[in-house]
Amino acid sequence: MTKLSDLGPPITGTRHGGPPKNEAEHFYTCPTCGQPVDMRDLRQVIWHDKPVHNRLEMDA
Ligand SMILES: [Zn+2]
Repeated sequence: MTKLSDLGPPITGTRHGGPPKNEAEHFYTCPTCGQPVDMRDLRQVIWHDKPVHNRLEMDA
């Protein structure tokens, strides 16, 4: 299983629009593997954007 840390250091993005109401708004559920994706970390977004992938091991 690919570890999050295998993808390098965190790549933080800038949020468009106002601040979220709660922590859950930072996440979406990946339609491919069903894992919650933290949109604040571009590594995770790019990983889950691949058509075929496995869940990431969240070690970092
Ligand atoms: Zn996924």
